Amino acid sequence: MSQEQIFLGVILLLHLSEHCLWVPCGSAVFRRRGRGWESVTRGAIIETRRGSLHWVYPLAGLARAYRVAGPSVWCSASFPADVPRETGAFDPAAVDRRRLEVAAIFRPLRWASLGLTVLILAGVPLGLHCFGWVPTLWFGVPAMASLMGFNAVELFRRHRRAFPEATDDRWRLLLSACLSPLAATRSWDLAQKDALVGFHPAAIAAALPGFRDWEGLASTEWRLRRFPESPAGTDPVRAGFTEAGSQTTEKIVGFLAAIARARGLDPTGWEAPPEPEDPGHTRYCPRCRAQFTDRAETCNACRGVPLMALTSG
Ligand SMILES: [Zn+2]
Repeated sequence: MSQEQIFLGVILLLHLSEHCLWVPCGSAVFRRRGRGWESVTRGAIIETRRGSLHWVYPLAGLARAYRVAGPSVWCSASFPADVPRETGAFDPAAVDRRRLEVAAIFRPLRWASLGLTVLILAGVPLGLHCFGWVPTLWFGVPAMASLMGFNAVELFRRHRRAFPEATDDRWRLLLSACLSPLAATRSWDLAQKDALVGFHPAAIAAALPGFRDWEGLASTEWRLRRFPESPAGTDPVRAGFTEAGSQTTEKIVGFLAAIARARGLDPTGWEAPPEPEDPGHTRYCPRCRAQFTDRAETCNACRGVPLMALTSG
């Protein structure tokens, strides 16, 4: 293997590693899939107790992903602190407006991201093949430096406009974009990852064009809210927490039903008993839909949720 081939192989591996995405537990991430979007749930590269590593398409623009607080955070006694307004958090039209507004702010960065990608993945290999190391570096380095300079200046200005409070994030993005041309190809997409913070995942899924399986996401969330696990013992702190939480739950269920009806779906069907997977199964857990025989009293995964009969009536 020649020196050029090893060099290009390393560049390609580094490029692919830039397109891995860490999803911490308790957060929901949406990424591009085909022509539409999907919620990142399966196909992790690595999975640990604290989160999982996923991939996004390794191309600027298609690599965009949005990260928000996951449904588990929303079951707490109050809405997350960064929710714009209670109702706004569940409004797919508000999600869409915010997404397009942030996309418009960062649009000029696409020239730097796409330019650097083409230069690194096509220009450099072509230059090495046709002209050798010295001419390629002679032309490649100044071109890369000017694109990275433009990217850094615009990234800083526009990030400050879109997210005035997120100073730490801004400097982290800027530093990585200045240190590595491969990291700079990610600036356009990474700068927008927090654009939808504060919105509920079901509202985001309803707003993203071509989202896969909105009903699956919303019905799971619906059942988690409608059939909560019982609180531990009679701890007064815990009891007060649950009481305040049940008001939040009611609101969330109401908002989910409203979005479902606007999409022409009937949310009451989400509680219908599933088809038995085995003739011996007579009961099911209304929360996680696991099926059981007559001997089971409660679901082993969901604490204190009473089982229901599989055949209705
Ligand atoms: Zn269960």
